[in-house]
Amino acid sequence: MDRQLILRYLLNSNRSHTSHQNITDMKHISILGSTGSIGTQALDVIRQFPGKLKVVALSGHTNINLLIEQVREFKPEIVHVSEDKNLEDLKNAIKTSGTKLITGKEELINIATYPKSDMVLSAIVGFAGLIPTIEAIKAGKDIALANKETLVVAGDLVMDLAAKHNVNIIPVDSEHSAIFQCMQGEDYDMVRRIILTASGGPFRTTDLKKLQKVSVKDALNHPNWSMGNKITIDSATMMNKGLEVIEAYHLFKIPPFKIEVIVHPESIVHSLVEFKDRSIKAQLGLPDMRVPIQYALTYPDRAKNTFEEFSFTKYAALHFEQPDIKRFPALDIAFEAIRRGGNTPCIINAANEIAVNAFLKEKIRFMQIPKIVEETMESATPCVNPSINDLLETDIESRKIAEELIK
Ligand code: NDP
Ligand code: MG
Repeated sequence: MDRQLILRYLLNSNRSHTSHQNITDMKHISILGSTGSIGTQALDVIRQFPGKLKVVALSGHTNINLLIEQVREFKPEIVHVSEDKNLEDLKNAIKTSGTKLITGKEELINIATYPKSDMVLSAIVGFAGLIPTIEAIKAGKDIALANKETLVVAGDLVMDLAAKHNVNIIPVDSEHSAIFQCMQGEDYDMVRRIILTASGGPFRTTDLKKLQKVSVKDALNHPNWSMGNKITIDSATMMNKGLEVIEAYHLFKIPPFKIEVIVHPESIVHSLVEFKDRSIKAQLGLPDMRVPIQYALTYPDRAKNTFEEFSFTKYAALHFEQPDIKRFPALDIAFEAIRRGGNTPCIINAANEIAVNAFLKEKIRFMQIPKIVEETMESATPCVNPSINDLLETDIESRKIAEELIK
């Protein structure tokens, strides 16, 4: 199918196009990464709609205590953890809830493809989310996509696969949810540009010299959003925005020259679309990820919730400024990765995961993160039209190169 056609299919699809359930019926949800920031906020959304949304499958990784609480409360039919160690308490919790426990890395796919689920929330962090998301698509599950790395690493393959299996990919990322909402009822041929907003993170105004020495604690102190550690560091380097540009490029089939980034410190305007007639649509709201999560889970319907009301007088002024490329070289690296195409986005994603992890362990300084990503991009073996296996190899090779650079 032609790329524009795939896109129109995905964006114009409504209930009658999906093979799945109407929100007025019960929608069954599997959550990959239920113990994370997105996972827990999704459960908070699901709590609001007991008659409409039901959890059938959950996966956690290291936070077993939280997973136990979730199993007790939501009584999923099946739950997954990668390791088989120290699971006595979980096993006991499961005895009373009637949930089936599965373990082992490979078995995670059973959560992604669980027959009784209508939609999979892909909320594992990083490259680890890719294969389960692909398997969910192959099983015909609609995807609420938080794991942006899936599209960064394998956007072409994943979008083609979604079209082939008639699967809707509904963005959870707030910027992409905003664009998706602005595009309802619109024609992609009429788009002049899309504008992704960025908060600028904790170092938006930090002196460049001081930026060399910032601590992990400083970098984890995001001004507007409370998120997992990896995406919080990505927000501080603005690599997150770079990854989001790549995500938008695949999700909306928009050429990179039509994608712009603007810094908006208040994080109230979540993103904008400008049309050919110079009309601009924006989606606004408080920085609360539960709103885009709910939209993805209930799409195409909207449902009343108990979230905080937005006050215009509290936000009497909203500000916008150009991103500072000296301070945030990661943004340029991401645009360069799109230009080079092939496996380059996969390379920068892998190098970034390694570099962020090294920064969190205080092995490298903050400004070394984009340097390691750029040097890995220059050293890893390019591949023009990668298969999934090529991308798995690229990921391994790029991680090794980044690790060597860190040493
Ligand atoms: P967190 O680190 O908070 O949560 C990650 C989740 O994935 C946890 O449930 C974790 O389990 C699990 N996990 C981690 N590694 C593995 C692995 N190797 N195998 C299986 N499961 C694993 O991340 P976030 O919730 O912040 O982010 C999730 C995704 O959503 C990311 O791709 C991020 O970019 C995206 N996103 C997040 C936003 C946010 O506000 N947080 C906003 C927009 C996008 P455990 O905790 O039990 O170890
Ligand atoms: Mg975002």
